[in-house]
Amino acid sequence: MFEFQWDQVGDRELEESWTDAAEHFSELQDLVDSGVCSFDAPIRADIVARDLAGLVEVTGRVSTSVVMGCSRCLEDYRLEIDVPFRLTFSRGLDQVTDVADMAEEEDEGVELDAEALGLVAVSGDVVALRGLIAEQVVLELPARSLCSESCKGLCPHCGRNMNHEACECSEPVFDTRFAELAKLKIDDKSGE
Ligand SMILES: [Zn+2]
Ligand SMILES: [Zn+2]
Repeated sequence: MFEFQWDQVGDRELEESWTDAAEHFSELQDLVDSGVCSFDAPIRADIVARDLAGLVEVTGRVSTSVVMGCSRCLEDYRLEIDVPFRLTFSRGLDQVTDVADMAEEEDEGVELDAEALGLVAVSGDVVALRGLIAEQVVLELPARSLCSESCKGLCPHCGRNMNHEACECSEPVFDTRFAELAKLKIDDKSGE
């Protein structure tokens, strides 16, 4: 699963669909272990691999369902992931000489290798996608985790989740301060 033999891609396109539990992807299990998120659906990938002038191009989609904690209200929310991706594999540098030559004509004097061309180098006969698929999922996780952009968060005074019920203490606290000020002024006057 999540891999195929280089030779399976020839004149015909190779279509595959794989599904596996998130815990079988070490990068994703690391996220679960460190409390970043959990997965409530398996990782699914649908791919088409085709020959591209000696390279192998893989296009497809990755989908899963992630449960994350909101950094503002601390409640869990679900994030549906369904992202397209495209990866191009090269089997050693010999195969990309033509592409590198083409690129070098445009930008002379620059040494290009597979990675610089955005290619994923493959050594041996197997095109392994497991780690790359996990990477697509990781890239979709937000740097700042919010249940929604308009999340109101927790009340700093009573800790209530203000998304669920209007909080009554923030306004009165503000008003009370004015009341105290007003009282001081009155006291000042009364002292005259
Ligand atoms: Zn929230
Ligand atoms: Zn409150």
